[in-house]
Amino acid sequence: MNVHLDLATVLLLHQCSFLVGALCFVYMRLQSRNGEGLGALATGYLSLALASAFAGLGEQHRLTVAVWGPGSIIMGATGYALFWIGIRRLSSGRLRRTDWWVLVIPVIAAALTFATQFYLISPVRSSVSNALAFTSLAVSAVCVLKDRSRERLPARILLAVSIGLGALLAFLVILGLLAPDIAPMPPIWAFFLRIMCQFGVALFVVILVTERTEAELRCVADTDMLTGIGNRRWFMSRLPRTAIEGNALLLMDLDFFKQVNDRFGHDAGDAVLVSFAEAISRNLQADASFGRLGGEEFGLYLPRITASEALAMGESLRNVVRDLTVEHCGERIPLTVSIGVAAVAQPQCSLADLFKMADAALYAAKDSGRDRAVLFEPSIRIAA
Ligand code: GH3
Ligand code: MG
Ligand code: MG
Repeated sequence: MNVHLDLATVLLLHQCSFLVGALCFVYMRLQSRNGEGLGALATGYLSLALASAFAGLGEQHRLTVAVWGPGSIIMGATGYALFWIGIRRLSSGRLRRTDWWVLVIPVIAAALTFATQFYLISPVRSSVSNALAFTSLAVSAVCVLKDRSRERLPARILLAVSIGLGALLAFLVILGLLAPDIAPMPPIWAFFLRIMCQFGVALFVVILVTERTEAELRCVADTDMLTGIGNRRWFMSRLPRTAIEGNALLLMDLDFFKQVNDRFGHDAGDAVLVSFAEAISRNLQADASFGRLGGEEFGLYLPRITASEALAMGESLRNVVRDLTVEHCGERIPLTVSIGVAAVAQPQCSLADLFKMADAALYAAKDSGRDRAVLFEPSIRIAA
């Protein structure tokens, strides 16, 4: 490439990338509830901006090498140690107390700097500071990727790639300085591309935190806070737009639940709802959708099932509920459920019709004495 990069401008851009990143981290920390690690990241980036400023002032001969040499090494080592701490916290959501031991590295770097004065030899100084960057970035990229099994957000991959690329480019800077014959690019170009990665890291950290917050909000919006299963909104979102032939809807309503509240208290009623939801969930296949529609009413949508299989399923769940033991002050709370079953027999059935049929079957179950599952048949009258 025929473009000339001058070191002073590149160092200025280097400082800017850290300052922009630090501002992003501070902003996200103030805005988001998911601020883990952002404080350490902001401090790390500020420390790296300072290290770069030392180097920049040194390049312009505004500071003596005895000041800017140790300054850039020590601030750089501190910045990369804090960067790793921040990324680890951001990625896993937690930090072990032993992780702070990484701050020993800047102390060792300071001791070596003053003991050997290696900073006086320019390629050695640059190689040491890029080696610190390489180690911190490589370990951080692995950390972000490793936590992917715990939290699969798209920004995680992009963040790991931008950190990993930064590590690779830091390695190429060292290679360019120590073995220019085999290096694929001049060190200043590798250094310049590293700056792009630093902008990338700031961008993908912001996106990761935003994606995390959105995922949490989606989960809260779809979850019933008492039982932990999906709520009506979630349940409705799981259903197809029109009822599919060979699917079934089961509406469940606990029997005489008001009496449970009146006799044992509201807290006991809550405990019954939680136990009921757990017991039903335990007895379902993975493709079933089970949610709390409101109060003591629950919905179950079953794909690929015949009418008689859906009724048998309703019967089996009814028995599960009857055998459920929920105790209050040593006394067993009696519990039964009525279930209305509607199976989609013809393709023209709308979802609203399916709900009406299941509801009518549920009323028929209540009318005929409760504690039963009833399959909708044309002889059952649908309420207008
Ligand atoms: P039926 O057999 O006809 O269904 O009678 P029921 O008593 O179960 O029905 P009803 O509609 O008369 O009463 C439902 C009760 O459910 C009334 C309400 O206080 C109670 N309930 C609704 N939501 C909750 C809740 O979140 N917790 C508790 N403890 N009770 C609730
Ligand atoms: Mg009810
Ligand atoms: Mg009820």
